[in-house]
Amino acid sequence: MSEFSLIARHFCRHPAAADIAISVGDDCAVVDAPIGQQIVICTDTMVANRHYPMDTPARAIGHKAVAVNLSDLSAMGATPHSITLALSLPSYDEAWVADFADGLYAICDHYGVKLIGGDTTYAPTTTISVTAMGFVPAGCAITRTGAKPDDIICVSGKIGSAAFALFEVLSGQASPLRTTLDYPEPQVALGQALHGYANSMIDISDGLGQDLGHILSGSGVGAKLYLDNIPCDDSLNQLPFAQKYQHILNGGDDYQLCFTMNQEKFAQFQADFPDLSIHAIGEITADSGVQLFEHGQAVAFDIKGFEHF
Ligand code: ADP
Ligand code: MG
Repeated sequence: MSEFSLIARHFCRHPAAADIAISVGDDCAVVDAPIGQQIVICTDTMVANRHYPMDTPARAIGHKAVAVNLSDLSAMGATPHSITLALSLPSYDEAWVADFADGLYAICDHYGVKLIGGDTTYAPTTTISVTAMGFVPAGCAITRTGAKPDDIICVSGKIGSAAFALFEVLSGQASPLRTTLDYPEPQVALGQALHGYANSMIDISDGLGQDLGHILSGSGVGAKLYLDNIPCDDSLNQLPFAQKYQHILNGGDDYQLCFTMNQEKFAQFQADFPDLSIHAIGEITADSGVQLFEHGQAVAFDIKGFEHF
C-alpha cells in the first residue's frame, strides 16, 4: 500500500466545496475566509499509549483526535470549519485505518467540518496530529485573559468522569464511564453561544484545577471554588474525598468548557439559552490564589494537573 493509495482509499471523502476551493490532492488546501472574521487555528497530537490506552478502538481514536481540537476551537468561541490530519503509523492495517477514518469522518460530519489535507508517514509509534481551523467575528475570540473580580466561574458539564474511567481501565477494571474517555463531545454550540456573555474561557483538557489556573494567571486574579457545586457522575460521589477530587480537579480529558461571566450575564445567558446547561462553581477574586470550600468549610487540596515532562 503506497502512501498515496492509502490517502485515496481512506481520506478523500470531502472534495472541494462551496467555501473550499482546493481540498485533498494538491500541495495545500485553499479555503475562502469569510469577510469580517478571523481565522482561529489549533493543533493537538495524540500518541498511542500516552493519550489513549492501547485497547482503545480505532473508531474512538479517530473521533477523539478531532474532538480535542474542536474543543480548543470552542474554547475561543470559534465556529469550526476544517481540519488537516498528520497520521504516522508503524504499519498499514487496513481495518484499523478504515475504522479510524469512520470515527474521524463521523464527528466531522456531525459538526459540518471538512478534512482538507494532511500528511501520512511511517513512525514506530502511532501518532495522530490534527490541526483544526475555525472562524470568529473579528476581535471576538474569547481568551483566557479576560476574567474579572466577582465573575462567576462556570463549567459546562460533569467533570472527572474520563479521569475516573482511565484510572479504572489502568487498574484492569471495566469502567462504566469508558465512553466519556473514548468519545468526548466538544462543546461547540455552547462555545459559540457564549459570545457577548463570557469574559474568559478555556477548555478542560489537563484538569479543571490547572486549566482554571491558566485563566487566573492570564487574568491576574484568584478564585473561590465551591467543590460541592462541581457537577460529577454519581459514581465519583462514592469515592473518598482525596480520590474524588483527584479525578475532578487534577484528572483531565474532560473536554468541557470552563468560563467566567458577570452575575447579570450569567442570569441572562440562562434565560436566553435554556437548553445549554451551565453550572456555577465559584467566583473570581481580586486576590490571587485559589480558596477551596466544601459544604461551606475551607478545605485544602493540592492542585496539580497533567504535565508531560
Ligand atoms: P506533499 O508532498 O505536497 O506534502 P503529500 O504527498 O504529503 O503532499 O500529500 C498529498 C495530498 O494528500 C495533499 O493534498 C495532502 O494534504 C493530502 N494528505 C496527505 N495525508 C493525508 C491524510 N492523512 N488525510 C488527508 N489528506 C492527506
Ligand atoms: Mg507538495
